[in-house]
Amino acid sequence: MVIDSHCHLDLLAEKKDINQVLLEAAEAQVAAIVVPGINEQNWLTINQLANEHAMVSFALGFHPMFLDKIDAGSIGRLEQRIAESISNSKLVAVGECGLDFYQGRENERQQKSLLIEQIRIANQHQLPVILHCRKAHQDLIALLKQSPPLNGALFMDSVAVISKQWTMSILA
Ligand SMILES: [Zn+2]
Repeated sequence: MVIDSHCHLDLLAEKKDINQVLLEAAEAQVAAIVVPGINEQNWLTINQLANEHAMVSFALGFHPMFLDKIDAGSIGRLEQRIAESISNSKLVAVGECGLDFYQGRENERQQKSLLIEQIRIANQHQLPVILHCRKAHQDLIALLKQSPPLNGALFMDSVAVISKQWTMSILA
């Protein structure tokens, strides 16, 4: 059984027939697809996608490349949204969160504090995190050592679902 732990189906839906995409995924033995959150603008859409399609689950969070709409209340709203959705079995993770220094480190502090907050929320609700990382691997490992996700992490550039034990062992 294959689980796609990271697929931006909501963005794909702008160009393709989602029913067809899901059919092809099922034919390729994909049993489930997790659609990550990017920012508040896509949370509702991905929640609806998960409601409409049995094989789709979703995550809620703030992607480090889309910080322009983040304000002082953003983390509070994420916390509230996750608390409201926690009884929904389709909500399976916090994310996509992480670090992206591909275009420089201008907002390094904001990215790091946002990631730490999202790990805290994930731990509070016993959820794993979906991690994004570009040009920031050493920073990410250092941050995860300080603020470990306690319920596992799924890395965007890997198909592996990393268990809690595995996360702990790489961070040890
Ligand atoms: Zn992504």
